[in-house]
Amino acid sequence: MKVIIASEAGFCFGVKRAIKIINNEIEKGNTPLYVYGELIHNKVVVEDLEKRGVYSIDSIDEVEEGSTVIIRTHGISPKEEEILKKKNVKIVDTTCPLVKKAQLLVERIKKEGKIPIIIGKPEHPEVKGEIGYGGKEAIVISKGEDIPLDGFNKEIGIIAQTTFNPEKFKNIVKIIKKHSTKTIIYDTICYTTVMRQKDTIKLAKESDMMIILGGKHSSNTRTLYEIAKKYQPNTYHMERAENFNPEILEGVNILGISTGASTPDYEIDALVDLIKNHDNNVEIERREGYKWEI
Ligand code: SF4
Repeated sequence: MKVIIASEAGFCFGVKRAIKIINNEIEKGNTPLYVYGELIHNKVVVEDLEKRGVYSIDSIDEVEEGSTVIIRTHGISPKEEEILKKKNVKIVDTTCPLVKKAQLLVERIKKEGKIPIIIGKPEHPEVKGEIGYGGKEAIVISKGEDIPLDGFNKEIGIIAQTTFNPEKFKNIVKIIKKHSTKTIIYDTICYTTVMRQKDTIKLAKESDMMIILGGKHSSNTRTLYEIAKKYQPNTYHMERAENFNPEILEGVNILGISTGASTPDYEIDALVDLIKNHDNNVEIERREGYKWEI
């Protein structure tokens, strides 16, 4: 059997950067650190950070005066940032630069007097933060049916949730354009997400089975699973390497592995070790990807 690991598997640029910033804070002895929401949608990483003094809190009300709060890669709204500042907390901002760019574009669209439209999932924390930059007129659209039938009464500006499916984004934009003559589009989909998805499709077509490793609550991991399953029905989504059951390898010649953007390399290694325990002669290929600088 051959195991092929997708080139973009493992942490994305934004998560690597966030973990590096947090590790620096831990090394400087600045713990405890509080993260507003789960740092990333990966339980393995969250549990490991907890052991080192990094705790998740569910509500901004739980933040105590004078504590140190991490803003995660998804970012937060300006209003939430204001509340934190009023509480006199030290803010460690790990908002991914690509999310920051999307937030500032929404703000610019609003300042230009246009209607900001965010194509994304309304319940996603990144989108919630972006809505905050767009003000009362901001609209979230996740499918064609969300578009107001009577169209828009002024110019609109569109951005995308960074981890949104590019195909779905294009289709929604096409429908919106039928309802608005004045539209400006900023494709803010993250390039690592695009490459990860493309690479996963390629691998799904070549393999007899795919494993997508990553958090069950991770939007980009779930999207990756949907995409892989479309091209390779024999696809499994596993939250952790320990969920792997060797029985599924029966009759498989080529196994493809891809991961969400918040899956650490050590989880990939743990999965590979479990596969090797089952089959000593397994051939492992890790495809070379682009080396993102952080
Ligand atoms: S998936 Fe892209 S936008 Fe999201 S944190 Fe990673 S690099 Fe940033």
